[in-house]
Amino acid sequence: MRCVAGRVCTTASARLAAAGLEPPAARLAFAHALAWLGVAGGASVLPAWVRHQHPAVGPLLRDLRDTPCDDPACAWCRTAFSATHWLRESFGFDAFRPRPAAPDGGSLQQRIVEAGLAGRPALAVLPTGGGKSLCFQVPALARHQRTGALTVVVLPLQALMKDQVDNFRSKTGRLAAAAALYGALTLPERGAVMDRVRQGDVALLYVSPEQLRNPSVVRTIEQREIGAWVFDEAHCLSKWGHDFRPDYLYTARFIAELAERQCTPPPPVTCLTATAKHEVVEEIRSHIRDRLGQELDLYAGGAERSNLTFAVESSMSGRAERRPAPWSTPPPGAAPRSCGTR
Ligand SMILES: [Zn+2]
Repeated sequence: MRCVAGRVCTTASARLAAAGLEPPAARLAFAHALAWLGVAGGASVLPAWVRHQHPAVGPLLRDLRDTPCDDPACAWCRTAFSATHWLRESFGFDAFRPRPAAPDGGSLQQRIVEAGLAGRPALAVLPTGGGKSLCFQVPALARHQRTGALTVVVLPLQALMKDQVDNFRSKTGRLAAAAALYGALTLPERGAVMDRVRQGDVALLYVSPEQLRNPSVVRTIEQREIGAWVFDEAHCLSKWGHDFRPDYLYTARFIAELAERQCTPPPPVTCLTATAKHEVVEEIRSHIRDRLGQELDLYAGGAERSNLTFAVESSMSGRAERRPAPWSTPPPGAAPRSCGTR
């Protein structure tokens, strides 16, 4: 194990050395794991046939690189599971947003990232513009570096998907690490994205829920080990949410069936929404509990938008009336809106 020192957990490797590698199958799995560890951390992923023919390799790698130990001297675990390390490494920031704050006074955004890094299922309620995307993008990059696993993000709006991919690329400089599959892509564009997913370049794949009914998309995703599933705009999972979509409900069933085919437990789920209604939160949690057996820890940051103000004025005519703007020079990004109803 000396050749991979610093790239695996020292506690796990010591445990492995003590247990020995007696059955020939274990030795073969170890050889495959060692070969992959030589190139780990780049875009190279464990080939699907290796995972299939040597089912012990996946758990072995997860043990060595994806399960944090408590030893303060373990160099691997002290960086590979550190939220601030990955924030600096991927986005170049030194600290998470201090607001909204977690109950312990720290950054709620950091606590959500820590849950993702540790593989704990989570439901985050954060206002739009509150740094929601970073909460799953940082753990996704960390997972990809640790085990080559893919994170799949289910998102309802194509325009939002393209925005998120463009934003991620410009902020991290990692052009190949994020990609999106949605209906508006041309056939060659789809083919190119699916090739990159299969080859392992992609850490973060955005899909619209309808895509999970497409056989070629399913075959592509199946080629990869799935590290986590993310439901952005997760209120769509609830009948109380204003964007209820039946295809969203199919997704949890898809996750369970895919995990069964890949002979693994369902990967951890992260749900994010800006809707803080109690009914929505409870329905999302019970949906994931019932279908995937996961209990989502709640990280409630509120849905308040401090940059928005509302004023209601009555209209004598009973119709929307155009009113003069309440300023002579509009503040940056401001615009008055008039409407007839709520
Ligand atoms: Zn360790």
